[in-house]
Amino acid sequence: MPGDADIEYASPWAGANYAPVSKKGTVEAEYDLNTWPELYRLAKSVPEAGAHFQQNVVYNRDEDAQTATAAWFSDLLSSKPWFADSVPDFRKLKPSELPPGVNGGISYTSVCINTPQYLHYLLGQCLRNGVVVKRAVITHISRAAQFHATSQPADIVVNCTGLGSLVLGGVLDNNLYPARGHVVLVRNETPDRITFVSGTDDGPEETTYIMMRGAGGGTIIGGCYQRGQTDPTPDPAMGRRILQRAARLCPEMVGGKGVEGFDVVRHGVGLRPVRTGGPRLERERVEGVAVVHNYGHGGAGYQCSYGCAQAAVRLVRESLASRVRL
Ligand SMILES: Cc1cc2nc3c(=O)[nH]c(=O)nc-3n(C[C@H](O)[C@H](O)[C@H](O)COP(=O)(O)OP(=O)(O)OC[C@H]3O[C@@H](n4cnc5c(N)ncnc54)[C@H](O)[C@@H]3O)c2cc1C
Repeated sequence: MPGDADIEYASPWAGANYAPVSKKGTVEAEYDLNTWPELYRLAKSVPEAGAHFQQNVVYNRDEDAQTATAAWFSDLLSSKPWFADSVPDFRKLKPSELPPGVNGGISYTSVCINTPQYLHYLLGQCLRNGVVVKRAVITHISRAAQFHATSQPADIVVNCTGLGSLVLGGVLDNNLYPARGHVVLVRNETPDRITFVSGTDDGPEETTYIMMRGAGGGTIIGGCYQRGQTDPTPDPAMGRRILQRAARLCPEMVGGKGVEGFDVVRHGVGLRPVRTGGPRLERERVEGVAVVHNYGHGGAGYQCSYGCAQAAVRLVRESLASRVRL
């Protein structure tokens, strides 16, 4: 639930920003495209949602081409990614704007979401719309139907259990795997921009990103992309490398004092719920219960959220319509 900080719950650990990593022409790109208008609206007109606009600067180093992080970002790193015309202020950076060691870059207006604030905002929207919230661990997806607010079982279960669907009875999706991310939350500010770099000299699983959350949410510094790793404990050596890279990239953040200039709130670890083949938006019957799946959003769960939710709503409607025909 919003307010919890557990390894089973990916959402609080995200930065989170809009930087599509989906491939051109895929359904994932469509989900990302359909999400932007709502994130834009929230940042523009709904201050209590905790999303604000930031210029996103993405740097590409040729030497990172074969790394896990650059493969993950590959479309984002092109000089004209597919979303270039859908976000404001998109432009390719001039060579004179690139820091040493960087071979190319882009810049556009993105949003950064203060995730603790935003998750509480979403919960508030649910409560306002009459949702009854219950806490439970479900061992089989069909059992979820029994948790309806009335004494009757639910007509439809919408499965949004993220990485939990790897071990959830009735789902057991072996296409899911974790991609571990270490983040550091600091009080230092970078009000003017988000910065992303394709990789680092510290190993192929590591990268650098810096994004300041709005509404006093501090600045999130990352990170890494460690496929298959699940250790919930932050590694101090990794944490130090993350801060060292950020201090080099944005010395103005620390007043030129290096790592010692950071005012750290906490280190944290989140597991991106990655799914081979992309997120699962599907409906099926499991032991007689109608289920709509919406999980497996990897490192993109915020930036594809409204697009995926629209697809899930279509599936719920189809499911209800087919039930009526029966
Ligand atoms: C370090 C990091 C940085 C990221 N940065 C970004 C970013 O900048 N932009 C972006 O768009 N995305 C980002 N992401 C990805 C994003 O956070 C995830 O894709 C998204 O939060 C997944 O949301 P979810 O609701 O599907 O999963 P979760 O947030 O994990 O929620 C799943 C919920 O289901 C519950 N659950 C699971 N199994 C059961 C069960 N059997 N019974 C009961 N409950 C169960 C869990 O407890 C949890 O509460 C990042 C992720 C990480 C870790």
